[in-house]
Amino acid sequence: MKKALVLLLFITTISSFAQKKAVNNDDPTKFMNTITADKLKTRLYIVASDEMEGRDTGSKGQKKAGNYLISQYKKSKISSPKGATNYYQPVPAAYLNAKRNENLPDSENIWAYIEGSEKPEEVLIISAHYDHVGVKNGEVYNGADDDGSGTVAVLQIAEAFQKAKKEGHGPKRSILFLHVTGEEHGLHGSRFYSENPLFPIANTVADINIDMIGRRDVEHADTNNYVYVIGADRLSSDLHNITVAQNNKYTHLDLDFKFNDPKDPNHFYERSDHYNFAKNGIPAVFLFNGVHADYHQKSDEPDKIEYDALAKRAQLAFVIAWDLANRSERIIVDKAIQ
Ligand SMILES: [Zn+2]
Repeated sequence: MKKALVLLLFITTISSFAQKKAVNNDDPTKFMNTITADKLKTRLYIVASDEMEGRDTGSKGQKKAGNYLISQYKKSKISSPKGATNYYQPVPAAYLNAKRNENLPDSENIWAYIEGSEKPEEVLIISAHYDHVGVKNGEVYNGADDDGSGTVAVLQIAEAFQKAKKEGHGPKRSILFLHVTGEEHGLHGSRFYSENPLFPIANTVADINIDMIGRRDVEHADTNNYVYVIGADRLSSDLHNITVAQNNKYTHLDLDFKFNDPKDPNHFYERSDHYNFAKNGIPAVFLFNGVHADYHQKSDEPDKIEYDALAKRAQLAFVIAWDLANRSERIIVDKAIQ
């Protein structure tokens, strides 16, 4: 009798554990797999089309691209952030032109948001710049890789989280999807956000920044199954460990840390939008495919994108975000700001 009772207890415990396991947030595979090469391709051909006129900061073409992004968020029922009037964070011309002697018009960061179910006040940012260099001598610079690739990746990641939420697996922490402007003119949009944050910097758990993930560089002529990981360990060992663990578990890319060396002469760590978060103490990881012959050329076109690689790298960003948004304790900053 006693023995049977113990056994019964044991079985009850196991089955309740199994039930919990079935509804927990551990496995992102199903949602990760909604980020596909085909969907990214369809969207990138729009974002990097001549109609967007190279998306120069404040230009008509950039605003068109912004409208397209917003239309997609609305279609997927992903709202603008809590506390914001709409999907725009206006970045005034006076701000854009304060650092360099340029004559840029008013522009906007674009943002969308999924509220966390358990710790809504803690916010993860997933960022990519949606501006590029515009039109030069009558030629449209479409910036398919830079950073059309990151732009469509952020949108697709947001939709994967929204689908998870719809099916009862929404993120525990809130996620801000942030398309920043003015990157090509000096990381202005991300700096503006960091100085005018919608959610307190202290509550911002991390930034995952995506800038150029659709191509390969000469160092990887034989394979596109890699990505450069920059900055993850600069502020938080957790962020580095999560990046490595999620990749080992789900995406199996060759993570290349070459450009993470603080002595690397390219200084990519300081050259994209994550830096404006990192310099304010927010752990940031930057995913990047390296430069190539079409970098900042009119030939950075969507037909040169390797969509399988773009999908895989976007999936990596998604599974990193999944862990950061769902883990019980937020990641720890254990290193000083560099
Ligand atoms: Zn870029």
